Amino acid sequence: MKYSDKILNTPSSFIRNILKVTDAPDVISFAGGLPNPISFPIDELKQSINHAIDENGAKLFQYSTTEGYLPLRQYIADKYKTDFGLDFEPEDILITTGSQQALELISQVLLNKGEGVVIEEPGYLGAIQAFTLAEPVFYPVTLEEDGLNAEQLEETLSTNEHIKFIYTVPNFHNPTGITYSQEKREAIYEVLKKYDVALIEDDPYGELRWSGEKLPYIGAGRLENSVLLGSFSKIVTPGMRIGYIVTKNKELMGHINTAKQAMDLHTNIFSQMILHDYLASNDLKTHIGKIADLYQTQANTMLNAMAKYFPSTVNYTKPDGGMFIWVTLEEGTSALEFFNKAMEEKVAFVPGDPFYTNKTNVNTLRLNYTNSSTEMIEEGIKRLGKILYALSNE
Ligand code: PMP
Repeated sequence: MKYSDKILNTPSSFIRNILKVTDAPDVISFAGGLPNPISFPIDELKQSINHAIDENGAKLFQYSTTEGYLPLRQYIADKYKTDFGLDFEPEDILITTGSQQALELISQVLLNKGEGVVIEEPGYLGAIQAFTLAEPVFYPVTLEEDGLNAEQLEETLSTNEHIKFIYTVPNFHNPTGITYSQEKREAIYEVLKKYDVALIEDDPYGELRWSGEKLPYIGAGRLENSVLLGSFSKIVTPGMRIGYIVTKNKELMGHINTAKQAMDLHTNIFSQMILHDYLASNDLKTHIGKIADLYQTQANTMLNAMAKYFPSTVNYTKPDGGMFIWVTLEEGTSALEFFNKAMEEKVAFVPGDPFYTNKTNVNTLRLNYTNSSTEMIEEGIKRLGKILYALSNE
């Protein structure tokens, strides 16, 4: 059998592959990006399943519209009005099969083979994978502690005409955990105003904040070619696969709708109606507050253990929310070699390589704290610290 160039050139997800090894019951895994299952509102969802069926009957089991369930789109529009003062209408919102599908839809609609995409370096692996299927040229721009380097962004845009969009995760970034500062958001907005490119702001983690104030988006509500992505994966459950695209650009939305028709007709209506019933019957803010408290405890346990057990030559981010910490080892230390040694001690994480489009054998890695108990976090970091001291003495 002969396969397409695009699938042959798309690497299978490094994380999904290593999860098969790191999921063994005796491994302490900081590798995945899974929400903590104790945060899933299972009892409330059980009630919503019954209630939604009682209320809507066969509609839960029938084909539905490509745009998505109208009351759910209205709920999302209302949420942006309350939280950010943004004026979105249900017609500006399309429900997707997780925000991962939104990434695929955007690349289908915007990219021809060989056209350019600006991504953060390091960037979200799932986005790199989704875009790679469209065979673009990647333009990585350095992600600093407070967001993309705005000068480098301007330089990249001014010297490459075929760039179609910029992809960002402005809040509690995956994989680094950083959040763009207000100044950086303004600086990036000022650059983007001048160019005919789309800005994708992917924000699945923004509400999981335990410290500091939420910040306005870079382009949502004010840049003509702004596309905002959201998801219920991290704040309700990922298994329902409900995400969404928000854009006021009607032409773009029309094309996204056509691509979605071709891809899967519509997002699972059973999940959409149950989710809407859950959202209408429960206070989402209170629920999210509990998740943020849980993750804050887990993150602090990990940061305190790192301060105690890691050599002082190791640097790491200190997130105000979200699910990840990004670690930078001493120059010249291979995160892959560290990973292999850690697996011998039954601790897993994701070495940095798959988060870059043009670098290998890097000295960075991602740690996830949301899916391990505080005892496991303390023990896992202690084991990693021992290996790091041994590596730095080699
Ligand atoms: N974007 C980012 C930045 C993510 O971290 C994830 C999940 N790991 C997704 C999108 C996809 O999430 P989902 O499809 O579950 O909404």
